[in-house]
Amino acid sequence: MKNYQLTIIGGGPGGYSAAFRAAELGKKVAIIDDNNLGGVCLNWGCIPTKALLKNAEVVELINNASEYGIELKSSKINFEKVIEKTIKARQRLSKGLHFQIRKHGIDFYPGYATFEEKNKISVDDIKISSEKFIIATGSKPKRLKNLEKSENVIYAKDIFSLKHLPKSLSIIGAGAIGIEYAYFFNAFGVEVSLVEAKSNILPNEDKEVSKWIEKVFKRKKIKIQTGTIAEKTDSETTLISIGVEGNTKGIGLRKLGMDIDESNHIIVDKNYRTNIDNIYAVGDVIGPPWLAHVSTVEGIFVADYVADKKPKSINYNCVPACTYSKPEIASIGLKEEQLVEKKINYKTAKSFFNSNGKAVATSSTDGFIKILVSDDNFILGAHIVGSNATEMISEFSLAMSNKLKIDNILDSIHPHPTFSEAIFETLLQLK
Ligand SMILES: Cc1cc2nc3c(=O)[nH]c(=O)nc-3n(C[C@H](O)[C@H](O)[C@H](O)COP(=O)(O)OP(=O)(O)OC[C@H]3O[C@@H](n4cnc5c(N)ncnc54)[C@H](O)[C@@H]3O)c2cc1C
Repeated sequence: MKNYQLTIIGGGPGGYSAAFRAAELGKKVAIIDDNNLGGVCLNWGCIPTKALLKNAEVVELINNASEYGIELKSSKINFEKVIEKTIKARQRLSKGLHFQIRKHGIDFYPGYATFEEKNKISVDDIKISSEKFIIATGSKPKRLKNLEKSENVIYAKDIFSLKHLPKSLSIIGAGAIGIEYAYFFNAFGVEVSLVEAKSNILPNEDKEVSKWIEKVFKRKKIKIQTGTIAEKTDSETTLISIGVEGNTKGIGLRKLGMDIDESNHIIVDKNYRTNIDNIYAVGDVIGPPWLAHVSTVEGIFVADYVADKKPKSINYNCVPACTYSKPEIASIGLKEEQLVEKKINYKTAKSFFNSNGKAVATSSTDGFIKILVSDDNFILGAHIVGSNATEMISEFSLAMSNKLKIDNILDSIHPHPTFSEAIFETLLQLK
């Protein structure tokens, strides 16, 4: 029997960040993963998709090269190489993670963990006992059973096994994953149709943002159907991206009497403790928002908490959400519709990137920035569509998390020429 102070089940961003932090705080730590360290994020989520999206950007640049004064004779897509490049990015980061695990003196057990008792798990033939556990087993895609009966229905993970580009692709679900893949496949010349049950694509974003992206995508000839429940599609391939549910089955949690909700998410208290006193849970497995950076901060919180470091609670009103299509989309805080619904007084400032020097110089003028501010000048929400939106949103994250007023942002000098100058200029409208 191996003994640890803290054992973490699941080696995604929630699990590995908890492991690193706990080891830094002097705990004897084990981490278990049945796939490979990095979880969904590294293996077929955040990282490989961004590598694919870079390829799409290159294709678009090549197609528009003449606008930059570069005449190209011809280009040819080698899809196998496109996929290979993403796998290389994943492998490189995976190596880095394994190195960090060893450097921190953490024991890694590859395999599937199952609870035998509240202090004991088995990983194949190995028995591990631990004072405390963190469950960070992530999530899996929700399935669409009626469509699955048809051929060539795939989920996000399956993209990396495609041998060639389909001629046509229907994407069911127009959240961040659906939008990123719509952009990617469209750039590679695939006929893309997006089907969304709600009344807007990107239904979690501010309505103006959704409408802007809808306009951009229609210009790219992506077909969009909103308010539609997909019953069948006539595309060569159908990608289902309608959300996720917690990975809680087959781990022995119900046998322990753990509280789990109807979407298979583990129920936790404000310190991420389950109803079993020595077991904590973080990340996708405890429910929305299903984002890697949220898993990370929750993992670090629990590592600090079990080491009596009294961490500050996570402010879920200040979680940035990003979609890496072109243009990029990033938001934080409340949407305008929510402010109206909650009858909160607010001021709006908005500007378009077509008046930003860097945007014009780099031919990236598509998009706008919209900032929602309280009567006493605190930021309530920020919504950006445009190049570098996913980098710019961190300025709002810093401001909102630290309760800075718009004057604090206006007191800081933004370099010229940058996209971030648009933040300064937009806020100036409110002064
Ligand atoms: C296509 C796609 C793109 C995405 N892009 C982004 C993005 O750009 N930004 C972002 O923030 N988020 C993105 N996400 C979401 C992000 O990947 C998840 O929020 C994040 O990976 C959750 O981290 P986690 O640590 O909670 O779980 P995971 O990353 O899911 O890791 C859980 C790990 O636990 C393992 N496991 C499960 N059960 C057991 C068991 N019993 N024993 C041992 N191991 C087990 C799993 O195999 C897995 O490796 C994307 C997701 C997808 C699918």
